[in-house]
Amino acid sequence: MGRIPFKRLAVDGETVTVEERDDRGRMASGHPIGGEYTRNKIVIDRYMPTESKQVAVLHEALHHCWERGGVGRYLSGKTEELVLSLLDSWLWQILRENPELARWIAGEEG
Ligand SMILES: [Zn+2]
Repeated sequence: MGRIPFKRLAVDGETVTVEERDDRGRMASGHPIGGEYTRNKIVIDRYMPTESKQVAVLHEALHHCWERGGVGRYLSGKTEELVLSLLDSWLWQILRENPELARWIAGEEG
């Protein structure tokens, strides 16, 4: 269970802060993934395994994109959770299994 090694993300042209929090009970009741997103702020349950934290950070960053993209005007909140709960795991898996892709995207090679 490692700590998240950064405090902010650049997402869709904005800075989103990333925090870990101790209050696992409160957060778990509000969001099944162990994270929360409110405007430009991601909070992650400190007690989750590292891989779960990674998926949760991706999930919450996608909430930011969803909000910024105005998708909520067309699709329900329930649809948002369904779509992002699929995309977070798929995105994590693609990045995990293809580190050369992640490095290429980051501009570190190629
Ligand atoms: Zn969500």
